[in-house]
Amino acid sequence: MDYPIWHPCSQMKDHEVYPIIHIKKAKGVYLYDEKGNSYIDGISSWWVNLFGHSNKRLNNAIKKQLEVLEQVIFAGFTHDRALELSQRLLKIVPKNLKKIFFAEIGSSAVEISLKLSHHYFKNIGIKGKNKFVYLENGYHGETLGALSVMGEPLYKNAYEDILIKNIMVEFPNCYRCPFGKTRNNCDVECFSFMEKTLSSKADCVAGVIVEPLVQFAGGFKMYPSKYLSKLRELTKKLNIHLILDEIATGFGRTGTMFALEQAQIEPDFLCLSKGITSGYLPLSVVLTTDEIYNAFYDDYSKGKNFLHSHSYDGNALACACACETLNIFEDENVLENNKKKYTLMRQLIENYFKDFDFVGEIRHTGFISAIEFVKDKYTKMPIDSSIRFGFKIYRKALEKGVLLRNLGDLIYFLPPYVIDNSQIEQLVESAYFATKEVIDENFC
Ligand SMILES: *Cc1c(COP(=O)(O)O)cnc(C)c1O
Repeated sequence: MDYPIWHPCSQMKDHEVYPIIHIKKAKGVYLYDEKGNSYIDGISSWWVNLFGHSNKRLNNAIKKQLEVLEQVIFAGFTHDRALELSQRLLKIVPKNLKKIFFAEIGSSAVEISLKLSHHYFKNIGIKGKNKFVYLENGYHGETLGALSVMGEPLYKNAYEDILIKNIMVEFPNCYRCPFGKTRNNCDVECFSFMEKTLSSKADCVAGVIVEPLVQFAGGFKMYPSKYLSKLRELTKKLNIHLILDEIATGFGRTGTMFALEQAQIEPDFLCLSKGITSGYLPLSVVLTTDEIYNAFYDDYSKGKNFLHSHSYDGNALACACACETLNIFEDENVLENNKKKYTLMRQLIENYFKDFDFVGEIRHTGFISAIEFVKDKYTKMPIDSSIRFGFKIYRKALEKGVLLRNLGDLIYFLPPYVIDNSQIEQLVESAYFATKEVIDENFC
């Protein structure tokens, strides 16, 4: 029988050469395939898993909830787990955020924040705020609205003709700084691009959306928190919303519970998903202020209503899982324990990889490390893309029992927080040997 599934983010033809891996079960940081191979899940199953697969506490939380309530319509109805989750999330986000809107996937959270931002200005009688500003390399999901603020052309090009036209700004390019600065001697001169755009277009811009500190899918580009504090200050001054997409950075990944803590800023919208359920079930939320909420609060007939909805909004199993995720953070001192682990991971990566000529930059933020490979570390010229250097490392690492993934010629390490020291060692060592073999096979 023909293989029936069309997989995401893939050219299916690649699988003529690289068969799809059939996973039978998973436990802790390990995935097990049908042939009995095991793989360390070095990318947390696409950045979602925090506490390992088949985690006892999370399994039990879901089982317990299953006996009580699995799902109920969320328009006009509520339930214990959604209330509990809301109250607990509000305690750990900036104080200005007071209301929570539920959805299922990251892209929906982004859609909701864009719609709310534009609609808010309409409701309070400010006309013409019809655009959003986003960063080059930014990634906020792939539904059409989210694609309209996509800063990575790869995912967007085919759809340009049917997208809302928004405004892209040069990203803080720390590795190839246009101002010739380095990470350690910079005063975010690159913020001038943002300043210029926002100052000249404030009347038509409703909001700016960014991934704080780390642009994930755009190639793990990392930038200083100062950029964010400047952005908050300026957007406030110009009456533009700041939408923080912490879908990937949230829940401890950058070292703090949320990346925004490192810039000490309060956004108008905060989008969360991915790690919110420890990678178990789809759930996303948008947190916002009373001011924005109140602009929609009126008699139905006034037409200010936010009528956005999804079938599984506030799913009770997902909420139970999210509550247990927060319990684990509290009970197990996760953020503190992670420090020791990612410090070790960083040291190992630096030690193993520092001598390769092809290593352009190794960068780290919290429990994320990334290696950008280049043809020449002095000119920073990229490697010929037809070699598919990064992709080959990903394939080689799989043969060595490690699931890494590449983004172009960059590989990244983003394991579940429950990874132990010897597993970290195995992860980095396998990546090193995979890289060495790819270099030996493709260059002399
Ligand atoms: C994954 C991601 C999204 C989209 O989330 P989906 O659940 O895949 O729709 C949006 N923004 C960022 C930063 C992400 O990493």
